[in-house]
Amino acid sequence: LQLSAQPAPKPEPPAVVAPSRLRAGLRLLLVEDNAINQLVASEMLRRQGYLVDVAANGREALAALERQTFEVVLMDVQMPEMDGFETTAALRDRESRTGAHTPVIALTAHAMKGDRERCLQAGMDGYVSKPIRADDLNRELDTILPHALGGAAIRPVNAGATAAATDSKNGV
Ligand code: MN
Repeated sequence: LQLSAQPAPKPEPPAVVAPSRLRAGLRLLLVEDNAINQLVASEMLRRQGYLVDVAANGREALAALERQTFEVVLMDVQMPEMDGFETTAALRDRESRTGAHTPVIALTAHAMKGDRERCLQAGMDGYVSKPIRADDLNRELDTILPHALGGAAIRPVNAGATAAATDSKNGV
């Protein structure tokens, strides 16, 4: 009975069909104190189909993470009061009691060699150097997201059969 009331599905813009199908509706938290960077990064992410919530500092981020689940957190490292390292440490401390693990991608202005290690040591799962390039950000998200979604959601269509065969061979 309710079928007749359903509107026809909207046609999708051709250029972004594949990424938006995979990413549409995945909710990310962008933690960034700089207003311009907030705009640039959130626009970059929304263009890929992600839903983006923005937190302007570590305290706001922890409050948002308490209210709601995010697939990935994009965490600016340099923020006043509570930086990205402290915020991630507080999140990981909280998670140690629940067993949850929200992936954190650091947004870092340091392109220094030890930076990756410092981010990983702080409990972050990956990092992207600033100024953020869409390619870098998307690549890092594609690396992180399959873990957040149990390994199934972002797998390329053509790789499905091969990956499944590999999985069963390895007994994973
Ligand atoms: Mn900052």
